[in-house]
Amino acid sequence: MANIDNYDFKGKKAIVRVDFNVPLDDNGNITDDTRIRGALPTLKKILSDGGALIIMSHMGKPKGKVNPKLSLKQIVPTVEKYLGVPVEFAADAADATAQAEALKPGQVLLLENLRFHAEEEGKPVGIDKADPAYDAAKKDMKAKQKEFAKKLASYADVYVNDAFGTAHRSHASTAVIADYFDCDNKMLGFLMEKEVTAVDNILSNIKRPFTAIMGGSKVSTKIGIIENLLDKVDNLILCGGMTYTFAKAMGGNIGNSICEPDKLDLALDIVKKAKEKGVNLVLGTDCVAADAFSNDANTKVCDVNNIPDGWEGIDIGPASIASFVGAILPAKTILWNGPAGVFEFDNFATGSKVVCEAIVKATNNGAFSLVGGGDSVACVNKFGYADAVSYVSTGGGALLEAIEGKILPGIAAVSCKK
Ligand code: AMP
Repeated sequence: MANIDNYDFKGKKAIVRVDFNVPLDDNGNITDDTRIRGALPTLKKILSDGGALIIMSHMGKPKGKVNPKLSLKQIVPTVEKYLGVPVEFAADAADATAQAEALKPGQVLLLENLRFHAEEEGKPVGIDKADPAYDAAKKDMKAKQKEFAKKLASYADVYVNDAFGTAHRSHASTAVIADYFDCDNKMLGFLMEKEVTAVDNILSNIKRPFTAIMGGSKVSTKIGIIENLLDKVDNLILCGGMTYTFAKAMGGNIGNSICEPDKLDLALDIVKKAKEKGVNLVLGTDCVAADAFSNDANTKVCDVNNIPDGWEGIDIGPASIASFVGAILPAKTILWNGPAGVFEFDNFATGSKVVCEAIVKATNNGAFSLVGGGDSVACVNKFGYADAVSYVSTGGGALLEAIEGKILPGIAAVSCKK
């Protein structure tokens, strides 16, 4: 794999996979351009070296059909504003040969939404998995996916993947395309490099003690990560809705709190494994219970094992806060994924906010802190601490799979490791 830091793009055409899947309002205006800004260091380096730039991305889920509401044409003015040069648009990603050939150094071409072609994802559309013809359709689509990837590759001399958000997908533009470039002409972009380093800091290059805080609504969606982390962390704080599956598994009365009754054995297994591995498992002991799932509900602090019927635990209580903070403050490596309570309700955001503040304090004391995976990112943004932690990941599913220890296809494809 080549390295973007010392690669000279002068005179080359670079095709760059970015994640420009930005949210739009009803009039097609971008409501949050974070993802576009995230890719700028890579795009600007290519242009300032004297390269020509072909940018490609998906937007939304058009499922292989052209959908004007998901056209990347809508983002052209924003990309022009940030790059400071005109951006030409290719209305069909699979038919841009002439436009790519005409590109001169310093010029930019943006391809239309890749997912307007079913070949991008490589999944057959309009046929059910149970249909006897499905396997043949899938094989046929995989062959078409290779052709699509080959076409995209034909536009450029060098391939850069800077789309961490889709790095866990083996799509035409994220992985298959890399087969058409030799090792010296494919690489990760700057954003990808930052994400890879951040994940490495919590999976391999760990400074101790390492405290992971896993929250959110369910244990079932986090089990792969929890199991991988049990081999790495010193302290594992489990909070949010999953608290009550653990409390119920240990014989508690959890009232109306969120619970996954089919995961009680799993919860007990996690407790057992944590003990065996010498991990300090920190579970909430008290909660702020509400008599309705509403910001204006009546509240009372309860023991998590003793919540009255008609009440549900939706934030952590003062004793839990104290033990969580105690495990976060001395940490030198911190991972936070998932809020401690229903932080969307201001009256139940205290627990998540205190967790966030403790992470910021530990970071100020030299810890490396990685926040990622959907709602914890929303938390740091809501509380205004995004710049006060070490790294906020741009990847949802990709980050979670990386923390589970999985090799991401988008990274493997350019890494040239056998
Ligand atoms: P996840 O996507 O699994 O990370 O879950 C995030 C969601 O979990 C957020 O929308 C929170 O409101 C929700 N959540 C956190 N704590 C609780 C709780 N005690 N009861 C119900 N939902 C919760």
